[in-house]
Amino acid sequence: MYDLNYVNPKSTSEALSEYEKSSEGQFLAGGMTLIPTLKSRLSSSDLLVDLRDTNLSGINSTGNNLNIKAMTTHAEVSGSDEVKKTLPAIANLAGQIGDHMVRNRGTIGGSVANNDPSACYPSAILSLNATIVTNKREIKADDFFVGLFETSLDEGELITEFSIPIPQKASYAKFANPASRYAIVGVFVSQNSDNVRVAVTGAGQNGVFRPKEIEDALNKNFASGALDGINLDNYEIFSDIHAQSDYRSHLVIEMTKHAVNNIS
Ligand SMILES: Cc1cc2nc3c(=O)[nH]c(=O)nc-3n(C[C@H](O)[C@H](O)[C@H](O)COP(=O)(O)OP(=O)(O)OC[C@H]3O[C@@H](n4cnc5c(N)ncnc54)[C@H](O)[C@@H]3O)c2cc1C
Repeated sequence: MYDLNYVNPKSTSEALSEYEKSSEGQFLAGGMTLIPTLKSRLSSSDLLVDLRDTNLSGINSTGNNLNIKAMTTHAEVSGSDEVKKTLPAIANLAGQIGDHMVRNRGTIGGSVANNDPSACYPSAILSLNATIVTNKREIKADDFFVGLFETSLDEGELITEFSIPIPQKASYAKFANPASRYAIVGVFVSQNSDNVRVAVTGAGQNGVFRPKEIEDALNKNFASGALDGINLDNYEIFSDIHAQSDYRSHLVIEMTKHAVNNIS
């Protein structure tokens, strides 16, 4: 780890002004990704701006939207009665992330800002067509995820909240890495009367993506059988030590079938 400074601001405006004063500042959420990457010198920073006391935690629903603030932990989301009532698939997704320690420290904002290609939340945010609210603007999920560990956030732009339209039904199915619990493949399906949206994590060379062929098939016939024979040859599916691309492609179809069969 390189030498760095640390501040613990008490509001988002103080956090942003501390960030502005630094040359290579980083927002610190739960530190679940940031601290290990700093320790191993995969990233560096002159200032960590801790968000823990900036009043960025909380969950509420208004009309047809579920709103989750950026610093809300996975444990808070998975245990929330509001989430279980309005969008149980999100509670289920959050409850499957990592282990107890990761769920107690890791946050929805850190997960989505980091955009790890195997993280669970990006698939939910994209499938549900959520809005990412920042200190500067509102970004639709379709415009947010740019590539591996890359988003449309500007430098120093702070996610404050996620505004998630509540679908009629939704479901998340994950084939988890047995060691880390990250998704080898995860598929989030959301269904409304006029539209089915599907987002896949863990498989795309450029991170989370929406497979058009799968969405088209489910929009015509919302049944797992509608997915038979679909291949993902048009997509760049990656291989690594955990799974080859052809196996991952197969898992995408199978996980989508699970999600369709268990949607509620
Ligand atoms: C052992 C292990 C297992 C895991 N398993 C899973 C899993 O199964 N599924 C899964 O989805 N994830 C998994 N994760 C990831 C975990 O869930 C965290 O969400 C992720 O590591 C981000 O952590 P964090 O929220 O503490 O953010 P940090 O590590 O603090 O920050 C991550 C990045 O996001 C930036 N950032 C944080 N908050 C904001 C904000 N509000 N606005 C703008 N930028 C921000 C930071 O500057 C940093 O660049 C796992 C992690 C570990 C260590």
